[in-house]
Amino acid sequence: MTGFSYHDSTLACDDVPLAEIAQAIGTPLYVYSAGIIQARYRELDEAFSSHRHTIHYALKANSTLAIVRLLRALGSAVDANSGGEIELALRAGFIPPQIVFTGVGKSPDELARAVVLGVKAINAESAGELERIDHIARHHGTRARVAVRINPDIDALSHPHISTGLKTNKFGIPLEEARQLCRGLRMHEGLELVGVHIHVGSQITTIEPLRRAAAAALELWSDLAADGIRLEHLDVGGGLGISYDGTLVPTAAEYAQAVLSVLESTELEVLLEPGRAILGPAGVLVARVVDVKPQPGGYWFVVLDAGMTELLRPMLYGAYHRIVPADHRPEPEVTCDIVGPLCESSDTLGAERRLPLPHVGDLVAVLDAGAYGSVMASNYNRRSMPAEVLVDGTRWRVIRRRQTIDDLLACEE
Ligand SMILES: *Cc1c(COP(=O)(O)O)cnc(C)c1O
Repeated sequence: MTGFSYHDSTLACDDVPLAEIAQAIGTPLYVYSAGIIQARYRELDEAFSSHRHTIHYALKANSTLAIVRLLRALGSAVDANSGGEIELALRAGFIPPQIVFTGVGKSPDELARAVVLGVKAINAESAGELERIDHIARHHGTRARVAVRINPDIDALSHPHISTGLKTNKFGIPLEEARQLCRGLRMHEGLELVGVHIHVGSQITTIEPLRRAAAAALELWSDLAADGIRLEHLDVGGGLGISYDGTLVPTAAEYAQAVLSVLESTELEVLLEPGRAILGPAGVLVARVVDVKPQPGGYWFVVLDAGMTELLRPMLYGAYHRIVPADHRPEPEVTCDIVGPLCESSDTLGAERRLPLPHVGDLVAVLDAGAYGSVMASNYNRRSMPAEVLVDGTRWRVIRRRQTIDDLLACEE
């Protein structure tokens, strides 16, 4: 069986009990299912099969090398959000024409690297950045392939911290200004305008903002076509949400149907930049209970060996993740605050959860932690980054070992 499910009363990833992995390499750790990653990649790819398209997996969601290589083997290209992610992509085996480079504050060094490599597109965020790219490209005697990131002033109806398409957000160039700007680019010898880029936010669970974003990209494309400017691609970004609490969210097919209903009139290649939709449900954070204590009002504190240093989303965005026991106890449910070990009161992974009272030493799994989980881990409190494991059917392997104290100090005097 692919994915996370109970075998009798024991939670397993594919055919491997989580307890077996935790026993072997300790906790906290991330466990990923190769089967889920494959299935979710293919589902999205097939949903768009009627139109020429390329999936540029958003590395920032999870860039552990083995996972990035797995996506490459599935046929994915990548979206890099920093110089570090570009280097990571190269080491994972991608070639520059498979890389798009996005980011609201690209440094001169990062831009120069992307220009010299000749990535498929630098998604430019402002008129000033386009000038700088032009300058760098002419200096190197080349032309940089650029796409203009537009800000369509669309509310993603997601969490404010992960909405990027409102005019009050720092991202992109207002749609009204973009046409004029693109016309002006013809005068720039260092630039080749190849596309329009849009990304209105993350964890979007209604179709309408995603459809409207595609429509905004199309509008600019047709204005530019009228001006005699030909593009190669329309990049509709990422943002498709997943269900963290079991409620229904749009499927890949519904998403594709909405986007393609807008874009099918163009012959242009469509670029997609999904991150969470592929990786989110493919990973869990496994932690061990280190203390259980009563709190006033009949509630309990369940203290784990994992917290905001392993999974920041609950503290950063108030994000909800289901938390389940790895071994189910047939006991009545109680109300627990499931907290981490950090010296911060915000270090709560789940408040007021109902579950059978865990015992010290039990394992729990924080579900849907595959995206924006391990990548946001930190060494706060001198904690080691967690180990990461990839399960494939009956086999599993460590794809990132737990940091040692020597790793932690390696960069210091
Ligand atoms: C973060 C990001 C993505 C991925 O977003 P998801 O919500 O994980 O799909 C795609 N494109 C850009 C430009 C991003 O910044």
